[in-house]
Amino acid sequence: MQDIKYHPLIDCDSDGTEKVPMFFCTDEKTIRQEHKMYLEEIIPEYYRLRSVKGMSASDAEKLIIHCPCCGKAMTAIVKARDNHNLGLYNCPECNSKKGAK
Ligand SMILES: [Zn+2]
Repeated sequence: MQDIKYHPLIDCDSDGTEKVPMFFCTDEKTIRQEHKMYLEEIIPEYYRLRSVKGMSASDAEKLIIHCPCCGKAMTAIVKARDNHNLGLYNCPECNSKKGAK
């Protein structure tokens, strides 16, 4: 079984709506101690946005989450489940490249 990857997110603009992932790690506990938000990658290239402290779904929808592979903005394909488990994201760019192979 593959390890779940966790990508911590950091702000890349002053109002905090744009988030870029840092190098992933497989230890969720460490990430939760040091970061407010992160992406959980259970299925490769599908990223569940997670908030440690909780965030409303409408606030989460305003966020722009960048792809850990190519850095482009991703699209939310599934809506938030609750305030901690937010949207599920997939990168259109990486997806289209995969289809071309
Ligand atoms: Zn991508």
